[in-house]
Amino acid sequence: MHDAIIIGAGHNGLAAGVILAKAGWKVLILERNEQPGGAVQTAEVTLPGFRHDLFAANLSLFAGSPFFQEFGSQLREYGLEFVQAPKPFGSVFERGGFIGVSTDLEETVASIGRFSPPDALAWQSLYEEFQRSAAFLFPLLSVPMPSFALARGLWKGMRKLGRRWPSDLLRLLLQSPREFLQEHFESPQVQAMCAAWGMHLDFPPAMAGGALFPYLESMASQMNGMALGKGGADSMIQALVLLFESLGGELCCSSPVRRIQISADGASGVEIEEGRSIGCRRAVIANLVPTVLAGLIPGQGLSESERHRIGRYRYGPATMMVHLALSGLPDWEAGGQVQDFAYVHIGNSLQEMDRVYSEAISGRLPERPMLVVGQPTAVDPARAPNGNHILWIQVRALPAAIAGDAAGKIEARDWESARKPYAERVLDRLESFAPGLRSKILSRCVLSPTDLQTHNPNLVGGDSLGGSHHLHQNYLLRPFPGWSRYRTPVRRLYMCGASTWPGAGVGAGSGRLLARMLTGKGRSP
Ligand SMILES: Cc1cc2nc3c(=O)[nH]c(=O)nc-3n(C[C@H](O)[C@H](O)[C@H](O)COP(=O)(O)OP(=O)(O)OC[C@H]3O[C@@H](n4cnc5c(N)ncnc54)[C@H](O)[C@@H]3O)c2cc1C
Repeated sequence: MHDAIIIGAGHNGLAAGVILAKAGWKVLILERNEQPGGAVQTAEVTLPGFRHDLFAANLSLFAGSPFFQEFGSQLREYGLEFVQAPKPFGSVFERGGFIGVSTDLEETVASIGRFSPPDALAWQSLYEEFQRSAAFLFPLLSVPMPSFALARGLWKGMRKLGRRWPSDLLRLLLQSPREFLQEHFESPQVQAMCAAWGMHLDFPPAMAGGALFPYLESMASQMNGMALGKGGADSMIQALVLLFESLGGELCCSSPVRRIQISADGASGVEIEEGRSIGCRRAVIANLVPTVLAGLIPGQGLSESERHRIGRYRYGPATMMVHLALSGLPDWEAGGQVQDFAYVHIGNSLQEMDRVYSEAISGRLPERPMLVVGQPTAVDPARAPNGNHILWIQVRALPAAIAGDAAGKIEARDWESARKPYAERVLDRLESFAPGLRSKILSRCVLSPTDLQTHNPNLVGGDSLGGSHHLHQNYLLRPFPGWSRYRTPVRRLYMCGASTWPGAGVGAGSGRLLARMLTGKGRSP
């Protein structure tokens, strides 16, 4: 009999599987799709030889994770290789402006200085402070929440950085991007360049609790650049699978779990689609968001009040992906240097981003979509044949259900019909910053919010993040008060994944923390 069954081969499920298998547990991972990886997939969805990261592309979180520190050398043996982008991100602005962040601090400072000399100095001093605090800050994101390790980490930081550090940190955690950025920078463009990172999560500039991510992403990019998976993000998944199997783990794809079996003393196994049951002794682990998990728990397994609470779990706004096969990189109006950057953000100002977000959550298709334009072939040319290129365009943020169009032009009220016209709006917007782009398109693949959820039920309504990260659902409240340490109300049924601390992204944090707890390396849940 298996010791653990893991439902879902997302990277967190796989990371948990590796740690449990290494500790001698007999582990089975069941994945509904033909391919493992969940929101980390690479496929030739436009033309042969054009390898697109369908969802996640930026693997910096994984490259910097404690999981990679522990297993990196083995994962490299199984084929994982990163390509490091020394020019990780920048923003283009209307009328041709561009600010870019490069790992060469002087270059970044010069780029910011063209917009505001005081902001160039402010960036330098923020970065100096980050260099001092990073060694204490990042470990706090890799410990269970709450835990003694967290308190210890805060104590250590306080001893080194001064008594004010915990309260300064708390202030940062509570601030909105706007409050934080306006405190540090005067230029609206510099503020917008950093605030764009908040929109990767569900933090528009005005949202309390949203300052941390723009701060960390901006500063960590300055320090390390951006890591992409060589040849595609799926190289990370393939290496995880090979490592897991080398440790005796078993992965079954095309095996959706239909129901979790619950006996008198807790979760005892799962029922898979063919009506077949598989038992396990020690743990059923769901790499699932709460509402999907609740759908697998039979009636008596959860109280009415728990079901009610799960039903109120809040998902973030939707996202849409546009993948292009191109004959050449975009000719950015802001200049040829923009082609060297891994990510180019299109979001002109804090006001514009706030507006996009409020349009999205009120159900309207944003008039001026905010775009994250990834240029993977700028750093990894082998992803497209014969000197051609690919573009990875993430549209942030969109309504999951369409009630109207902020521009009053698109009549469709479901994503099946809105997919095409909205993709045209996205391309028009891009074309206004990179004239001639349309003439370079060889083929395209558009994934609407509904397509995302069809591929992976965890992407509820096209939410890429496994649920909102607003303060009431983050840190020790993620996903719910009392569940933050991967426990559920059912004995021996545990959760990991983007809905659990430390949240979304490819850092393998929750899979690692849960498996360490189960194997006695962290505190038992
Ligand atoms: C478009 C997009 C872009 C993103 N970009 C980035 C990025 O650049 N960098 C970054 O760090 N993060 C990014 N993210 C977020 C990141 O990809 C996710 O937070 C992360 O991959 C989630 O991993 P997970 O382990 O929680 O599970 P998931 O990736 O959600 O995997 C869960 C798995 O469970 C399977 N499953 C579901 N139900 C069942 C069932 N009943 N039986 C069996 N299997 C089941 C699913 O098929 C899936 O394979 C992006 C996400 C999206 C959607």
